[in-house]
Amino acid sequence: MTAAMDSEYSRQSEQVEPELHNAISAIVSACSDPASANASMQSLLSENTILQTALAFMPLGFCMFDKQDRLQLCNQKYLDIWNLPAHLGQRGTLFADIMAASNEQEIELPDESLPGAPGQRRREFVTDAGVRIQVLIHVLEDGTVVALHKDITKSHAIQQKISFMAKHDILTGLCNRATLYERLDELLSPEAPSTFLTLLYLDLDAFKQVNDSMGHPVGDKLLQQVSERLKDCCRSTDLVARLGGDEFAILMEATDIHDEHGAEFLAGKIIAALTEHFHVDERPIQIGVSIGIASCSSSDMRPVELLKNADMALYEAKSKGGSLQQYFDKELETRERERQAFKVDLGKALENDEFELLYQPQVNASTMQICGAEALIRWNHPSRGLITPDEFIPLAEETGLIVAIGRWVLHQACLEARNWPENISISVNVSSVQCSDPNFLDDVVSAMSRCNLAPWRLELEITETVIMENVNATQALLRELKLRGVGIAIDDFGTGFSSLQYLRNFPVDKLKIDRSFVSNIDTESEALAIIRAIADLGRHLGKLTIAEGVETQAQLEIVQNLGCDEIQGYLISRPCSAVGFLEFVSSTSLPGKQVAGTRSTR
Ligand code: C2E
Ligand code: CA
Ligand code: CA
Repeated sequence: MTAAMDSEYSRQSEQVEPELHNAISAIVSACSDPASANASMQSLLSENTILQTALAFMPLGFCMFDKQDRLQLCNQKYLDIWNLPAHLGQRGTLFADIMAASNEQEIELPDESLPGAPGQRRREFVTDAGVRIQVLIHVLEDGTVVALHKDITKSHAIQQKISFMAKHDILTGLCNRATLYERLDELLSPEAPSTFLTLLYLDLDAFKQVNDSMGHPVGDKLLQQVSERLKDCCRSTDLVARLGGDEFAILMEATDIHDEHGAEFLAGKIIAALTEHFHVDERPIQIGVSIGIASCSSSDMRPVELLKNADMALYEAKSKGGSLQQYFDKELETRERERQAFKVDLGKALENDEFELLYQPQVNASTMQICGAEALIRWNHPSRGLITPDEFIPLAEETGLIVAIGRWVLHQACLEARNWPENISISVNVSSVQCSDPNFLDDVVSAMSRCNLAPWRLELEITETVIMENVNATQALLRELKLRGVGIAIDDFGTGFSSLQYLRNFPVDKLKIDRSFVSNIDTESEALAIIRAIADLGRHLGKLTIAEGVETQAQLEIVQNLGCDEIQGYLISRPCSAVGFLEFVSSTSLPGKQVAGTRSTR
């Protein structure tokens, strides 16, 4: 038994014992009363009607044997608890005969003697019928044995349940975080024998989307099925825990990473098992899992360190796109340290005025006239030079800094657009974190009014993921923006959920066809078919379409022929500085282009 189980057991016993203890003390003192010391038990009983009544009505089984192990006295409750026939309750019955009639098994208790009560012993038994009986035994000086018996089946079951709940996750029945930490503490304590440990940290991919789109009851059932598959993948000696949400951990004891059935093998098995379709309420669901793995030998690491390493490896697995396993190594640690430093720098970038916006022209596909520009952020890092958004926007989102950065972008973009001809609009990228910020609408309105920019000249680019993450709130937000005259474009269209439902219900003005389709347009017939479909969809739903990432004349001609309304890409221009953009606007160098035309309408 573990130390924790020991203390749990003593705690349970303490609740039952005072009752037994008090009763036995009363009877022992009655028996050793000097006035009745020489009297036979029979006369004691006949004279002491109080004792007799007490025996009959006490809720405990009582028995008393002389030093030759012959029954002197017992009450009916004793016979009932042990399910003994009446004749065995007769005076003189041998203890051995009673033992032979009761089918029980003794439970090993952590400590049989009762501290502070010399001569007393506590024992526990379980009968074949599943009745759990606690017995408190007192041996008197003359060899007489007095024992009290209590049926603790119910209280024991309740205690077991409480103790199970304290150690397990209620939804899945797996161990909980506390149990994992406790086991790690045990294994990695300085006194523990040396062993090799491996910890796997798991985080489900795409679980949040399932939970948000199908509801929590479906999410809960999915987690239960995930737990079953995890248990099936693991050995009985592995500790499988749910840490909360969609995070799990597996502790493999005495296992080296490279063991034949070690972590690498297990992680591969788990990834394969969890990538297979699930079925919840007959609906097919596909998720994935990312796994971070860290190991140590018990002498060289503290639990917090092992946990941190596994977490770092998990973060790496996630950021590589998920559904893969990643080992922790020193290089990861160095990268993590750099990431933390980068985060600190990012926190100071705004006040140090290190951000800059570039503007990439957007043209009308049929007239090739400039109709707008997309604002694209850059970070001029003091030591690392120019950093592109892909490298720091995810970190800004994770830390929440994107709210302040996004506010700056909005203001800066509106300020700049004021210098442009009235018919050129400005598109600003908006992250999901900004959309869920309660002040976002105010930020947009205040940027426009402070810069005195007409709302129809501002367009916000949001991704499909933003819409799907919080359908109701986003719908309300977009309506408010629409009411104020701001345009909405769906960025990277075709790569997310592309639900036709939201296209109908959301006040979206424009679909930005993802660059990946455009770049494959001349080599992949599917890409061509997708662009055609999106262009048709836009036409029928009354929404504009813009093809982004157009790099070649051939691509331009194809998207023009497919009926896209607007074009953006290196062929027209790379993103340029504010000054460069103004020069571009006033130049006429683009073949067939007339600068400053009108914005497309539908
Ligand atoms: P995006 O919104 O899809 O932006 C278009 C990206 O494609 C830009 O990369 C742009 O420079 C690049 N691009 C444009 N034309 C071409 C082309 O013909 N060929 C190729 N290969 N690429 C082209 P950039 O500026 O590195 O931005 C990357 C992403 O960072 C953006 O993707 C956007 O999601 C995000 N981002 C940029 N600025 C902001 C911002 O101010 N706020 C937020 N939240 N995100 C931003
Ligand atoms: Ca964009
Ligand atoms: Ca895009």
